[in-house]
Amino acid sequence: MNTLLNEIVSRAESEGRTYLMEHECKEILAGEGIATTGISVARSAVEAVEISNKIGYPVVLKVLSPEVIHKSDLGGVKLNIKDAAGVERAYEEITKAFSGNKVIGVAVQKMAPSGLEAIIGVSRDPAFGPVLMFGLGGVFVEVLKDVSFRILPVTEADIDEMLQEIRGYKLLQGYRGTEVDLRALKDLLFKISDLVMRCPEISELDLNPVFLYPQGYITVDARIILGKPEKTLPAVTSDQNKNTLQKLFYPESIAVVGASDKPGKLGWNIFHNLLYHRFAGKLYPVNVKAKTVQGVPAYSKIEDIEDTVDSAIIMVPAAQTLQAFEECCRKGIKMIVIESAGFAETGEDGKSVEKELKRLAESYNCRFVGPNCSGIINTHHNVVQSIGQVGDLRKGNIGLVAQAGVYAAGMLWGIRHTMDFAVVATIGNKADINETDILEYLGEDKNIEVICMYLEDVKSGRKFIDVARKITAQKPVIVLKSGRTEAGKKAVSSHTASLAGNDLIYDAAFRQAGIIRARDNDHMFGLAKAFSKQPFPSGDGVLVMSYTGSLGVAAADALSLNKMRLAELDDETRRYLREILPPYVACNNPADYTFDMNAAQVRDTIEIGLRSKDISSFIAILQAEILDTYVQELKKIDFQGKPILCCVPCKEFVMNEVIALEQAGFPVYSTPEEAVEALAVMYNFKRKL
Ligand code: ADP
Ligand code: MG
Repeated sequence: MNTLLNEIVSRAESEGRTYLMEHECKEILAGEGIATTGISVARSAVEAVEISNKIGYPVVLKVLSPEVIHKSDLGGVKLNIKDAAGVERAYEEITKAFSGNKVIGVAVQKMAPSGLEAIIGVSRDPAFGPVLMFGLGGVFVEVLKDVSFRILPVTEADIDEMLQEIRGYKLLQGYRGTEVDLRALKDLLFKISDLVMRCPEISELDLNPVFLYPQGYITVDARIILGKPEKTLPAVTSDQNKNTLQKLFYPESIAVVGASDKPGKLGWNIFHNLLYHRFAGKLYPVNVKAKTVQGVPAYSKIEDIEDTVDSAIIMVPAAQTLQAFEECCRKGIKMIVIESAGFAETGEDGKSVEKELKRLAESYNCRFVGPNCSGIINTHHNVVQSIGQVGDLRKGNIGLVAQAGVYAAGMLWGIRHTMDFAVVATIGNKADINETDILEYLGEDKNIEVICMYLEDVKSGRKFIDVARKITAQKPVIVLKSGRTEAGKKAVSSHTASLAGNDLIYDAAFRQAGIIRARDNDHMFGLAKAFSKQPFPSGDGVLVMSYTGSLGVAAADALSLNKMRLAELDDETRRYLREILPPYVACNNPADYTFDMNAAQVRDTIEIGLRSKDISSFIAILQAEILDTYVQELKKIDFQGKPILCCVPCKEFVMNEVIALEQAGFPVYSTPEEAVEALAVMYNFKRKL
């Protein structure tokens, strides 16, 4: 930290101030090599004139008071003063207007030539820590809220993207006379990032405005709010995480505390699921009363089990959970899944029990999932720990992380017919193991090719981004984050913090991490099944086949909106197509077969299309009423690594056929727009690999 900064911060702290005035901020900025108007403090009109004569006219005078945050609101900023008389007048006016405030002096500074106004700021997010904001000033920020965010620290690519993201980016690039020194601007953003990372006492910072010029920039106004440095979460190393989570997803033995012999009980469901899905390792039901549980000899206490146990599930009333947990710890079990509910979600008492669980876990060197969760499912290891009964599952390549167990169960009940999961992990109140731990593990699990997450919040912000960024360089991560409204926005004194609505921060964090953000469940699973079942398109050219011109056009529109395109049909492709198409069907893309379209035609078209270089993928818009015929024909085709996505309008009325098509590996969507979007998302993901 530069010593100047230290000095200013400790002075403010000793005076009980959290707000640093403009002259203090500009001093700090100058110490960082950031260009400002410069500033001198005048304590009398005479002094103000002397300073002005020295720095040269025109000048600006501003009130300096620890009590005045928004200086210009009350007449505390006098601009473009051209002579000594003007300075005297301005000085008197300012001191008069603020006679009721503690004024430490009047700032005298050079009037900066006008440039493109920008705002740069930093605020601190409870989950992600320091967040950098950039926007164009004036109406752009006030009315249009045209700002972008990135979580600190940032890379050069992050800075480029955050500049490109604002709607006014064209102005930065140069538009009708405006021109901006982008290099200097980026350098400024880096310097701010660096300053805030070094100085955890800075809780909010605003440079508002900064004037951007064809050469360089000038910081015209600056304010800093100090705060208590936040605690950072202790980092768990990746290896540690991997070893512990291995016991969660691939246990060789599981004890179920609270396993029940009475159907209808949750402890019955959990044990039944393990048996029904043929868990191949050892199972130890623990039940105080029962001799056997569902035919398996039971133990009345966990300590009665002679062997070592990899993992335990706890499903007992909340009041008995702590004791059961401690017994598991004493038994030396390193991975415990607490499915019991009634903790932090019910209030303060529950929260303190969670703290106690965490403390015990630390002292016994074990980890736990939950409480208030539904355990995990790993189809590749036949582990199903769910609280509700789960029907047959096929072994798949999708990893799903959810906070709420009921959500996962509800989704799985139906969706297992059309999508194949490798892992479903529910994390509940995540008093210990959280989304980042699980994500990191799923990133390494070779069975998993696409990860979906349903999150209500992210606990370990910055680490989440770093972990996700690594994974998304290889496999897609799709996140549905609930709570998109601005309800959580705090009342704050800096502009940046007030603009940094919770959801915008998540948006920025997800972008930085390369995460695909889903709008809703349908969107998330719609994207996931495309990734799960089909290869990536190698180019942007698409052949659309349709039984109706209208939906063909809708697909064409969607392609262009998603920055994909209809493939060109070369002469050879046209010649082949002409041979198979009925005379009334034009040789176009989209190929509109009219209502006579049949499965053989579609198969022939695809086989011709496969030979064309410009066709990298297919969209087939199929009739629901003869969907069964398509299933058989499509299965016969060797797609040679080119993807196909199907659209079946009104598909919900022919679910059996849809399921058959899905299980054969062909994702089905209700609308051409959904199918095209999924294709585009895959293409964009592939391009970034
Ligand atoms: P506030 O505390 O109200 O944000 P500012 O210092 O930002 O006060 O001043 C208000 C406005 O006056 C700025 O947005 C800018 O347009 C203009 N301004 C302030 N200082 C200067 C300066 N040194 N040169 C040119 N314009 C200035
Ligand atoms: Mg300002």
